[in-house]
Amino acid sequence: MSNTIVTFAEVRGGTLRRPSLEAVSEARRIADASAGRVVSVLVGAANEAATKSLGAHGADKVICFAAGALSSYSSESYARALSKAVESEGAGAVLIPYTAMGKDLAPRVAFLTGGGLVSDCSSLELAEGRLVAKRAQYSGKFISTFGWKTKLQIATLRPNVFALTTPAPDRACEVAQAEVDAAARARVREFRAKEGGKKELAEAQIIVSGGRGLKAAEHYKLIEDLGNAMGGALGASRAIVDDGWVGHSFQVGQTGKTVSPTLYVACGISGAIQHLAGMSSSRVIVAINKDPEAPIFKIANYGIVGDLFEIVPALTAEAKAHFASRA
Ligand code: FAD
Repeated sequence: MSNTIVTFAEVRGGTLRRPSLEAVSEARRIADASAGRVVSVLVGAANEAATKSLGAHGADKVICFAAGALSSYSSESYARALSKAVESEGAGAVLIPYTAMGKDLAPRVAFLTGGGLVSDCSSLELAEGRLVAKRAQYSGKFISTFGWKTKLQIATLRPNVFALTTPAPDRACEVAQAEVDAAARARVREFRAKEGGKKELAEAQIIVSGGRGLKAAEHYKLIEDLGNAMGGALGASRAIVDDGWVGHSFQVGQTGKTVSPTLYVACGISGAIQHLAGMSSSRVIVAINKDPEAPIFKIANYGIVGDLFEIVPALTAEAKAHFASRA
């Protein structure tokens, strides 16, 4: 493959998302092993902080598409911009974060460039100059290995799985401006954020999730208290989303969000396969459940068998004391 790797850098609310830095870090790791170069593509408003951060994490070049019409995400014009950069740079591979935006964008870029796409990758390796990807299949029941038949290899990367490089703020990084036809059949008129936790679930390092074991909507406050005390994001099983206790944006699982935090605390969640599909790649899983036979204990690193109404407040008090002593 050409040893130029293009990464898509996602900016939302003026902030570069962490999965974009994971993509550029992974691209750097592969490029270093193949004497390659890394080009990151930033679409939307000009953003100096994002450009610097991409350079510090390993981009040799950042291409900014900054036309006013691109300030809000639009599938059509963003795909056109990224595809244009892929072609002008003669890229052999494209790495895109597996976020809501990345999931929408990647297939369009694959169509426009003729590249093959492997989505939700959890590891990438080089074999004879070509990428080989691994991804979880059938709700994480097994891991498949994929190669590409196409010349251009496109992959979306599961957030929080790929390590960040140590930033080097003085790394040389060329910044180029580019333009693309931003006209699109669909136009974004207004962007309104939906109700959700304060922290973005898919990118969170710590997640505290609650399930039907909470017994009533008002008890979700226990999850909020523990999540806030630990500085984490809040999640939920589908059972309590379906019951209307919290919004769908909190749902973790097969039909919710896929998360890979460093720490996942499951409170009163049984561990149905559909829930595990969204969180089983978490680094450390703590389960609190009164039923010692609950399936969640099969994948938990630490299990607490007991009543969450006693355990969660005790953990919250400990977490508050721990963080207060560090402040
Ligand atoms: P339950 O299974 O009812 O478990 C509650 C747990 O709380 C039990 O293990 C119980 O022992 C424990 N408990 C009760 N009281 C206490 C207490 N006082 N202290 C401690 N523990 C206590 N589910 C998802 O989560 N995400 C998805 O994306 C998803 N997608 C789905 C897609 C499809 C097509 C289908 C069919 C299902 C999907 N589901 C999903 C639903 C899934 O199958 C389960 O029904 C759901 O995950 C169960 O949620 P729960 O663990 O909160 O509830």
